[in-house]
Amino acid sequence: MKTKLATLIVTFITAAAFGHGGVELGPNGGRILEFSKNESMHGEVTVKGDKFHIAVLDKDMKQVAMKEQTLTATSGDRDKPVKLEVTKDDKGFLVPLVKVGEWLIVQFKETPKSKAITARLEFNTAKCSECKNPEWLCTCKSEEGKK
Ligand SMILES: [Zn+2]
Repeated sequence: MKTKLATLIVTFITAAAFGHGGVELGPNGGRILEFSKNESMHGEVTVKGDKFHIAVLDKDMKQVAMKEQTLTATSGDRDKPVKLEVTKDDKGFLVPLVKVGEWLIVQFKETPKSKAITARLEFNTAKCSECKNPEWLCTCKSEEGKK
């Protein structure tokens, strides 16, 4: 148990030192995606029924009014990407759930003139033995997975 605790502490310190290196969770417990190059815009991915809901949040993780923002979404292999149908609501975007183990890749634009920002997540629903969250919402091992 001692070894495990030490590992946890090291992981925590590493995560803190690297700042936004790992998985980050938002105010609604969703997965945070970077929607900017300077931390000024975020997406928070939660599951609603058979869809991902991607809320658009500002630098303080506050809901942003939905105006000109657009999102495109794909899934599947790099060789065979599948375009997903995206719909919009007053808080963000709705995208069909990808198959378990597949990647969700989104491209966000704040306005039609903005440069598209690409963000992705692996939809790994296996339960983490430490935090009991599904792996795609797990913050325990975010740094280990990068090594
Ligand atoms: Zn975990």
